[in-house]
Amino acid sequence: MKLYDIHTHHIQLEDYDAPHHSCILNVYPLEFEATKNTYKRHNFSCGIHPWYSDDSKTQLKYLTEIASDTKIIAIGETGLDKIKGPSLDIQISLFKRHIELSEQIKKPLIIHAVKAWEELYHIRKDTQPTQPWIIHGFRGNPQVAEQMSKVGFMFSLGERFNVDSLAFIPSQSLFCETDESDIDIRQVYHHIADALNLSVEDFAAQVADNVRRVFPSL
Ligand SMILES: [Zn+2]
Repeated sequence: MKLYDIHTHHIQLEDYDAPHHSCILNVYPLEFEATKNTYKRHNFSCGIHPWYSDDSKTQLKYLTEIASDTKIIAIGETGLDKIKGPSLDIQISLFKRHIELSEQIKKPLIIHAVKAWEELYHIRKDTQPTQPWIIHGFRGNPQVAEQMSKVGFMFSLGERFNVDSLAFIPSQSLFCETDESDIDIRQVYHHIADALNLSVEDFAAQVADNVRRVFPSL
């Protein structure tokens, strides 16, 4: 059984290099070169978090230079956060730069979203992107899950998620992650499989299919 962690900020099982485990490690552009040499077995998402969208010029310039590196398999995390970070205008303009890049180099987008569903929904409808957009750490309610999946968003679930929303997430749009948490990815798979009334093997096989479709190089 192969377990994919599509969004993490630290590699937890690297110590014993568990062969069942494959990660997308999130890094800032300027961290990439050093991290790439430390974690040779894993892949990366690279972008500028909306909290730090102020003063992002240097990071953004560097991101466009390294984004086509084959170890970078997704752009992000990027997105919109109405609770934390600079004004929404600044966040939206940087988010759109990530979208352009994702379309240009044909790599999926990993999205951080807090209370900005309406804006995200409209940006996606207006942009009509060709690349998959995955909302990571999704904890939205069933209405949000339903509305966002109608326009093609995909979802990655972690330690905490809204169990009632699972019914509104198509099985081909679902991923697992650990994000900032110390939780073992195996536990995340168990929680979600239980909530879906599936065996963890069947659930993991389903997620693995999604991963291979969206991240063919993983
Ligand atoms: Zn994160």
